[in-house]
Amino acid sequence: MVVGWSYIVVCRNCGYISAEKLPEKEAKALMHEHVGDGAHCSTGYVSLMKVRS
Ligand SMILES: [Zn+2]
Repeated sequence: MVVGWSYIVVCRNCGYISAEKLPEKEAKALMHEHVGDGAHCSTGYVSLMKVRS
């Protein structure tokens, strides 16, 4: 059985943490969305955290 991994988005600038565990592709999209939402959070602050789904 394959172990599934999901990702959560974490921002060290504003403390944002995504509520849901997401597939990598969706987590990356959310990460870019967070950077682009005008909260002055740059990509250097936002990272993906790998979690077991
Ligand atoms: Zn942020």
